[in-house]
Parts: sequence; C-alpha cells; structure tokens
Amino acid sequence: MEIPKSHPRYVSLLLRERIIEGWKEGIVADAGLLAHGRGEAFDYLIGEITQPFALHAMKVALHHMLNAKNSVISVNGNVCALCAGDIVKLARATNSKLEINLFYRTEARVQKIAEKLREAGAEKIFGVNPDARIPGLEHLRALCSRDGMYTADVVFVPLEDGDRVEALKKMGKFVIALDLNPLSRTARSADVTIVDNLVRAVPKMVEIVKSGEKLEIEGYDNGAILGAAKKKIWEVLSEH
Ligand code: ATP
Repeated sequence: MEIPKSHPRYVSLLLRERIIEGWKEGIVADAGLLAHGRGEAFDYLIGEITQPFALHAMKVALHHMLNAKNSVISVNGNVCALCAGDIVKLARATNSKLEINLFYRTEARVQKIAEKLREAGAEKIFGVNPDARIPGLEHLRALCSRDGMYTADVVFVPLEDGDRVEALKKMGKFVIALDLNPLSRTARSADVTIVDNLVRAVPKMVEIVKSGEKLEIEGYDNGAILGAAKKKIWEVLSEH
C-alpha cells in the first residue's frame, strides 16, 4: 500500500508495512506481528524519538561490544524485516558476529532470514547450523553456535524474550537488550537496556562508532536508565 508522506503517522505506518511484508515473505513469525504492536504502543509513550536515556545506554553498550573478545548480535525475524541493512552495518562497525536465534524456529524461516542478511551484505552468519544449546532453555530457541553465542562474552539481543536473557546471564555473559518496554523481563534482566525503537537505535549506534567519540561507562546504572524511561512515559501521559 502506498502511504502518503503527509500522513501524520507516516513512519509508524511505513514500519507496519515493512513488518507485514516480512511476514508475507515468511521472515516474521505470526507472533512477531503482535510483538511489533506492543513495541508501537511503547514507542508512542516515549514520544517516538531517541531519548537521552537511550543514547546513554547505546554508548555504554557500544563500549562493551567494541571491547569484547567475542561479541555477538542476535537476529530474529522482526530485526531482519525492519533493519537488515543497519544490523549488518552494526556488526561490521563493532566487529560482532551475527547469529540467527528464533523463538519460533523453522528451517524455512532460518534460511529466509539468512538470505536477507546476505543480500544486505552479511558474510558469515551463525546459528544456521547450530551445534550447541543454551543451558536452561527448552525447545528450539536454545539452539546456538558454539563459536557464536555459546562462547560469546557480550551478546546484543534486540527484541528478546526474558527467558533467554536470563539464561544468557546465567552463562556469565554481558547482555545488552534493546526493548521499547522498560517493564519487560528482558529490559530488567539485561546489563544494559536501550529503550528505543530498533529502527532509530541501530543506525544511531553505527553513527556513534563512526564518529570515534570516546565512550564512557563510569558509574553506569541500568536501573536508573529504566527509571528515566518510566519517568518519561509518565510525563508523556501527564501532558495529554
Ligand atoms: P519479556 O519476556 O521480556 O517480558 P515480552 O513477552 O514482553 O518479553 P515479546 O512479546 O517477546 O516480549 O515482545 C517483544 C518486545 O519487543 C516487546 O516488549 C516490545 O515492546 C519490543 N519491541 C517490539 N518492536 C520493537 C522495536 N521496533 N524496537 C524496540 N523494541 C520493540
């Protein structure tokens, strides 16, 4: 559907179209459409812009990714449908590996996501032929690559389920989450939580790395970041 640029919710509608397109292509799971809707609601509540608490968390996240021995970015259907090109650029800029990890894993979806990532410029993609399991998780989402997520010291998990973040934390990994919902278990379990829309945050992170800006991590408090996000939501609700 052609969306007129003048529409007041142009960007939001464009992203909706992108997600629906990804669903039609078999990249996004049925439940991915619902997860996107939840994200839209929280984006509305943070004002649909990158807030200072998100920018702060991005810089700390990047410091950890850039200083990791084995940094891995987890990719699911929604991430691939919304920002395949930018996630490939982020992996390149931070020397991170890309690994496909799906809650609703099917061989067909894995292949389609891998193909789209390759089209976007990815070379090596982990998680396609998994050879390890994340302990404590049942079913197919536990599957991972030994040289990727299994042995990673830093894992960036955009749009994640809380269980997997907790399981990765139990393995001793430093976990960076990107989630518009500051109340989710994912947001609360991660070491660093970027409360922002994926489509704004990922290109911004690439831009920060390229700028060569010095990244400070001193005194970072993820609880305070989540508190600032909740305060912002309260402010937005109070204004209207
Ligand atoms: P948890 O187990 O962590 O409590 P959940 O059950 O709330 O997670 P899901 O249903 O898996 O989580 O939903 C995925 C999360 O991704 C939601 O919290 C939603 O706000 C967030 N989300 C969806 N789309 C985006 C987006 N484009 N950018 C950032 N976050 C998003």
